[in-house]
Amino acid sequence: FDFRDDDALAGERDVDRVLRPQSFEDFSGQRQVLDNLKVFVEAAKHRGESLDHVLLHGPPGLGKTTLANIIANEMGADLKITSGPVLDKPGDLAGLLTNLQENDILFIDEIHRLNPVVEEYLYSAMEDFKIDLMIDAGPSARSVQITLNPFTLVGATTRSGLLTAPLRARFGINSRLQYYQPEILSGIVTRSADILNIPISPEASQEIAGRSRGTPRIANALLRRVRDFAQVKGSGRIDLAITTHALNALNVDHYGLDEMDCKILEAIIDKFKGGPVGLTTIATAVGEQAGTIEEVYEPFLIQEGFLIRTPRGRKVTEKCFKHFGKLPGGPDEF
Ligand code: ADP
Repeated sequence: FDFRDDDALAGERDVDRVLRPQSFEDFSGQRQVLDNLKVFVEAAKHRGESLDHVLLHGPPGLGKTTLANIIANEMGADLKITSGPVLDKPGDLAGLLTNLQENDILFIDEIHRLNPVVEEYLYSAMEDFKIDLMIDAGPSARSVQITLNPFTLVGATTRSGLLTAPLRARFGINSRLQYYQPEILSGIVTRSADILNIPISPEASQEIAGRSRGTPRIANALLRRVRDFAQVKGSGRIDLAITTHALNALNVDHYGLDEMDCKILEAIIDKFKGGPVGLTTIATAVGEQAGTIEEVYEPFLIQEGFLIRTPRGRKVTEKCFKHFGKLPGGPDEF
């Protein structure tokens, strides 16, 4: 057991807390999602009602938990956080639901991983704010219906494709988060550096943003690592030189591609001559679920111009061949 590691982890969590935007104002990007949510929150407040249930889907680290937090703040309500795999039995959920105050927000992360029995139990809670509770055991066991305080369920998922139709239908608001554009991410890096009191040049912010895979969580994590380099090897100020040095030392890909991104693209190049190749074939080649590739990895690779979808399957682009230093057509052609 290593104390220092634990401290470091606790430190990261504290940093995370101070960097997390607390209001619609602080939250950058995702314009359309945000504009709609603002209207729905405003309207619910105006009517003095709880906000309709919200489903947020999109890849990890794009701000789903942050938005749930913001919705609670803007509604002036409390936020209770749990996640699909944690809710084992209907009783776990019942305990949470009966403790909610009027208009509170219940956030269920990874909602696609709910146990089907728990999921079914959630239906009447979402629809009529009612649940059946078993009291007593043995022969005197009976079920009583309990009326809950009106609440808002915010569900988050990286895999909306795995959500059952009945659950999906119970969300009045359904928003998909997109990967962030570099300019927006660069603004997030600058904001974080400001909060953490780290001097940073605009070029350095842009460099970190460009290598963060369109993801604020990664951008904030890289900023902290680059700060370490700036403090130990530089003047403490983050400029472009120390940023490039640090990111190269950390083996961060120039375009922010992660290990699975590279695995997918290299598999298409090396095993299928750049494609086109079907999604399930790629999935087998890299040992990942087809749905995860489609919902989590592929959108970024397409947005950045590494991959295209064709009627005959996925194909890598010339930019992709160049990035990996390989020639279109592969060695067979020579
Ligand atoms: P998710 O729940 O989608 O995995 P989070 O909400 O936990 O992602 O976000 C990860 C981190 O990224 C948060 O700690 C937050 O500080 C930061 N973050 C996310 N979205 C934004 C944003 N739009 N602006 C600024 N920071 C953001």
